[in-house]
Amino acid sequence: MNKIKTIFETGAPGRCAVMPEPLDVPDVSLPEVFQRDTPLALTELSEMDVVRHFTRLSRRNFGVDSHFYPLGSCTMKYNPKISESVASLPGFASLHPGLTLVPAYRETCQGALEVVYELERLLAEIAGMAAGCLQPMAGAHGELTGVLLIAAYHRSKNDMKRDTILIPDSAHGTNPASAAMAGFKTVTLPSNAQGSVDYDAYAALMGEHVAGVMLTCPNTHGLFEPHVAEIAALAHEHGALMYYDGANLNAILGKCRPGDLGFDVMHYNLHKTFGTPHGMGGPGSGAIAVGERLAPFLPNPRVVKNDGIYDLHFGDSSIGRMAPFFGNFLVALRAYVYILAVGGEGLKKISENAVLNANYVLARLKEHWRPAFDGLCMHECLLTAADMTADHGIRALDVAKALLDRGFHAPTVYFPLTVKEGLMIEPTETESQETLDDFCDAMLEIARSAIEDPESLHHAPVSLPVGRLNEAQAARNLDCAALPQNKS
Ligand SMILES: *Cc1c(COP(=O)(O)O)cnc(C)c1O
Repeated sequence: MNKIKTIFETGAPGRCAVMPEPLDVPDVSLPEVFQRDTPLALTELSEMDVVRHFTRLSRRNFGVDSHFYPLGSCTMKYNPKISESVASLPGFASLHPGLTLVPAYRETCQGALEVVYELERLLAEIAGMAAGCLQPMAGAHGELTGVLLIAAYHRSKNDMKRDTILIPDSAHGTNPASAAMAGFKTVTLPSNAQGSVDYDAYAALMGEHVAGVMLTCPNTHGLFEPHVAEIAALAHEHGALMYYDGANLNAILGKCRPGDLGFDVMHYNLHKTFGTPHGMGGPGSGAIAVGERLAPFLPNPRVVKNDGIYDLHFGDSSIGRMAPFFGNFLVALRAYVYILAVGGEGLKKISENAVLNANYVLARLKEHWRPAFDGLCMHECLLTAADMTADHGIRALDVAKALLDRGFHAPTVYFPLTVKEGLMIEPTETESQETLDDFCDAMLEIARSAIEDPESLHHAPVSLPVGRLNEAQAARNLDCAALPQNKS
């Protein structure tokens, strides 16, 4: 194939894609110190050049709208387009995200304030908790908010000895990072051979110095914590609070509620569970919900409803603002549309099908790729390539790259850290059985290749524009000309 010229090698002087409007303000020159000595060497392109460039680039990427994307712990489900159409209504899209900075917002922004109020109410209901808050911009930001609320609670009781948060070894790295950012020490809870929190080890670590426990349930092994209720009860007995990492909520929507399980505060990843787009660093939403005792400390301002009018309330005990205004309002709006569109029964079906799909994949693959833990899984199944590594030198990374060649996004690999050569597959509820079968067939074919021709997998991907990267080198040297290019 002839190498396609990059956009930086095309173009011609004077070619142009925009016709600027005539100036309607006085023409001023930049002060001389800010002026360049030589003109900037920019490529000059037509509109069509630019459209082709970005269209071509977009097709080189993997996305939920183009590929099956079973990235464990990320819930890469289909994002229904109805949410996009509502979020692009000019009344929402053109609104200042501050809402209350809009002149006469009490008259002009009632609809947007209603979205905030109603979504917080719905999220609290789904959580089985008292109140919600949309401010946090991502899951990790929700965690930080939640841990700060826990700190504010203990401070309000003048209980200053609690300096520790307990976190399982299977937790997402953001959990200990958030606790540390909020000023706490973190202590790791070991998992047992079944992949759950070792209850006896937990009980031995619990004490009056513990401010809170952060749990993910189902955990990142894809397993529901069998002792979750006892864990919460013991924490409360010792005056500690329970934080629920809601990134895996897709497994239990409408089936059980973190508040009923004994949790005091949680975050959602609206960009995972509630069908808003994510990836590439945002924008997301890590909205939170809290039980009664943490509600007074929620970030300011709160949207309240007085005599049918939505207005703002500033609480005296609030931890302050965690973000300007109301977080990523348009992301939250998409989640609101999603929840209204699927309804209460729909939420239940989402979890039922998410769990069914994960177990279908597990059942088809488990003879060939060893499950990390026995039994059924929840919304994701965790396999390990460790046997293949020992017997044939094939690592989880080889499997991930081989899947790219077969038209699938890779699952999450090497996470959680508790499992060697982990392959964490989360199919989500939105995939058809045919797609799951195609994926499982590819995984079985890769298993055969691993045994018969392992060398062939070490070079994958061979069909994509860029070949196998030296990952450390690629992160440091961003010059794409230095990357291994595939010939096709
Ligand atoms: C994704 C995830 C987070 C962090 O969420 P972000 O929105 O990426 O900050 C936390 N915990 C778990 C288990 C996750 O999967």
